[in-house]
Amino acid sequence: MDNEIIFAAYLEQRKNFINNQLRNPKYRIQKLRDLYQNIKKLESEICEALRLDLNKSATESYMTEIGMVLSEISFMRKHITGFAKPRKVATPLAQFAAKSFRLPCPKGQVLIISPWNYPFMLSIEPLVDAIAAGNCVVLKPSEHSPHVSAIIYKLIKMTFTQNEVLTVLGGREECSFLLDLDFDHIFFTGSTRVGKIVMQKAAEHFTSVTLELGGKSPCIVDETANIKLAAKRIVFGKFLNCGQTCVAPDYLLCHSSIKDQLIKEIERQIVLQYSVDPLRNADYPKMINQKQYDASLRLINTNNTIFGGRYNNATLKIEPTLIAADFDSPSMQEEIFGPVLPVLTFDNFDEILQKINTYHHPLAFYIFSANKRRINQALNTCDFGGGCVNDCIIHLATSAMPFGGLKHSGIGGYHGKIGFETFSHIKSIVDKKTWIDLPLRYQPYTKTKTKLIKKFVK
Ligand code: NAD
Repeated sequence: MDNEIIFAAYLEQRKNFINNQLRNPKYRIQKLRDLYQNIKKLESEICEALRLDLNKSATESYMTEIGMVLSEISFMRKHITGFAKPRKVATPLAQFAAKSFRLPCPKGQVLIISPWNYPFMLSIEPLVDAIAAGNCVVLKPSEHSPHVSAIIYKLIKMTFTQNEVLTVLGGREECSFLLDLDFDHIFFTGSTRVGKIVMQKAAEHFTSVTLELGGKSPCIVDETANIKLAAKRIVFGKFLNCGQTCVAPDYLLCHSSIKDQLIKEIERQIVLQYSVDPLRNADYPKMINQKQYDASLRLINTNNTIFGGRYNNATLKIEPTLIAADFDSPSMQEEIFGPVLPVLTFDNFDEILQKINTYHHPLAFYIFSANKRRINQALNTCDFGGGCVNDCIIHLATSAMPFGGLKHSGIGGYHGKIGFETFSHIKSIVDKKTWIDLPLRYQPYTKTKTKLIKKFVK
């Protein structure tokens, strides 16, 4: 899109925010209802776009993208009125007579930048939270998922005015242009590398940021775990969307005594869930583009492949693959964003937790174990965004808990109440009564005043 057109629309939206109807919670509820209905109307087109960009099946598209968005809209519609209400809080006796309250207000004009891997969900879910909180939005979906970006453009046009939500199509150039403008909040989902650029640019305008980034999410399986169930759930979490999931288990750490059994079960599950030839499975997604395809293939070679490893250059599909690795392997140096699962072993649980903590804080952490003491130890000593015990990836599929990372894997969170708060500024207000005015704080100070102040303020 042309920068001049973007700038004019941005300015118009900014200028109009003061009178924007979105400031009214009732109007927000109505807009989210429209959004819900329009998503339902466009459901088959959204599925088709996801199939074209990532070869996602209709079931996977609904389960991991459309359904998640619809359920966040339903949650927000139910709770906007309550979340938007001024909340009365206690007033210190020294401030008698007054009432104090916290007043949630929209941050204003927010910029949402999204990636290509869950291109619908990761654009529209933050948008839902931003609208619920009363903001106007500039939305920049990813250039790498063009069919989904086009349907998002259509959906937004059907539902909102440009002064409410403006979709900017384009890539790095358009995004850089937007990042030079003054926004009241920036919500970014993407790589740690670009997250750093976003934060630096936001600093120019003292703009708050939410960064939803990535990282290497470990998955521990100890010798007390239910191996069959662990294998089934790991295969689901790792190979969903062909491994292009920010919270996918990035690498497997299994106790050496159960390694062979676990690998056998994972192999069995890959065949059960994806068939003996996943490359021919019509419901198995593809890599988004040549660059991502090549990056995953670079990790696989004949020496390290335990299972899988076949690929198809024409369809950009790589089958679910297990590789042998240690902490020095190339696969352990960066986040893997494909269907390649390195398998590492450990013997000492305490040592492995310490080792995990030498990496940047991961976005997710998974432990499969029946040992409660070890589970608690892991949850309390490892630093990470969020995670699961005896499962993986499902912790983000809820409006009841915030989703987000920590340091290199992200700053802040969203979904549900925290999502509303992410896009709100809470004004703290003291409403002082006029029928009385205690003289204590005013000069001239006296011994009695000092004594009374010390009595009330301590
Ligand atoms: P990316 O950082 O390359 O791109 C994200 C967005 O930033 C895109 O809209 C893109 O146009 C824009 N962009 C890219 N380069 C830019 C630049 N130099 N200046 C300004 N804008 C730029 O990320 P991606 O490849 O689209 O997505 C994959 C990454 O996203 C992975 O690291 C993954 O872990 C992460 N991710 C995180 C979450 C989460 O919720 N935490 C979810 C999905 C993906």
